[in-house]
Amino acid sequence: MKKAQSSKLKAQNYNGVIDRYKKYLPVTDRTPVITLKEGNTPLIYSKFLSKIIGANFEVYLKYEGLNPTGSFKDRGMTVAISKVCEEGPGAVICASTGNTSASAAAYAAAAGIKCIVLIPSGAIALGKLSQALIHGAVVIAINGNFDDALNLVKEITAKYPITLVNSINPYRIEGQKTASFEICDYLEDSPEFQVMPVGNAGNITAYWKGYKEYKGIGLIKKLPKMLGFQAAGAAPIVKGHPIKYPKTIATAIRIGNPASWKQAEEARDESEGLIDMVSDKQILEAYKLLATKDGVFVEPASATSVAGLLKLAHKGYFKLQAPSSKLQTKIVCILTGHGLKDPDRAIETVKKPKVVKANLKAVLREIGY
Ligand SMILES: *Cc1c(COP(=O)(O)O)cnc(C)c1O
Repeated sequence: MKKAQSSKLKAQNYNGVIDRYKKYLPVTDRTPVITLKEGNTPLIYSKFLSKIIGANFEVYLKYEGLNPTGSFKDRGMTVAISKVCEEGPGAVICASTGNTSASAAAYAAAAGIKCIVLIPSGAIALGKLSQALIHGAVVIAINGNFDDALNLVKEITAKYPITLVNSINPYRIEGQKTASFEICDYLEDSPEFQVMPVGNAGNITAYWKGYKEYKGIGLIKKLPKMLGFQAAGAAPIVKGHPIKYPKTIATAIRIGNPASWKQAEEARDESEGLIDMVSDKQILEAYKLLATKDGVFVEPASATSVAGLLKLAHKGYFKLQAPSSKLQTKIVCILTGHGLKDPDRAIETVKKPKVVKANLKAVLREIGY
């Protein structure tokens, strides 16, 4: 009895990223904290990927799909929505490829405020759309892409008292930087390399800011090389110009003109990292590998990290760039969102279950006994 009670108390100890990292966030004692206990996501050691990269390498997966609404967006949204509530009654709006709207809708519901989302018609995964709808957001699908939707919400928020909660909202970046704090707290320093998908480029901006802050106050000794990956059909930063009609199955990064373009390039250059691209085929291969070899189900955009990791490994990048062949080198891949967001893609990617007669003989024949 006593034992059960104490473990129950322990489970109540974690209260989300604002509570845990408030020293490093733009909040005060007067900020009403709207939280769904986001953050504190696992950093999973990947035996499979570590072996591929080679001896002396450790690959970890930061499984951000385990946030309350299934993506890292929750880290930024808790701060953005709490600040809206601090500043007075308000409404929020965002343009979204899906996950921002799911997160904004959930946190706005928890805060009791209005949420409006603009999505590209027909281009967002069903799981994400269902989230925005069930949380009670006003969902408007436009006949355009993400970049068109973002331009519209910028125009609306310039004229009306509605707060924009896309990642150009600086509070989003502040909240999202807590993911790099968690990685450093867990590894007791920064990793040597961090690999991640790049869409609107808010997240790479946030991670880099987090690492630099931890280094600045002496909590870590070094900084990682930031390795960002775009999908080949939506790779404006790699190509050096906006892409008018971005195309990729990784809908969360189907973005042709990233809002934080400049900051992403700064993260790349200051860290001596790179921003490169991978094909949809490489993304889907990594997507299947993560699920079948590591037991981790992510949405396609998240698999971009691992597709990038494998592309670089194939070129011998890590062996060339690692500080010393004698030391353990740590690589963290950010897995930004959960696989259940986009179940259609999973089913399309694998063989459908075979239908047989409902008898023992038929089943045994199929399973090879
Ligand atoms: C938002 C998102 C991204 C891209 O992040 P940016 O900050 O836009 O670069 C990648 N993966 C998933 C699952 C996302 O939801």
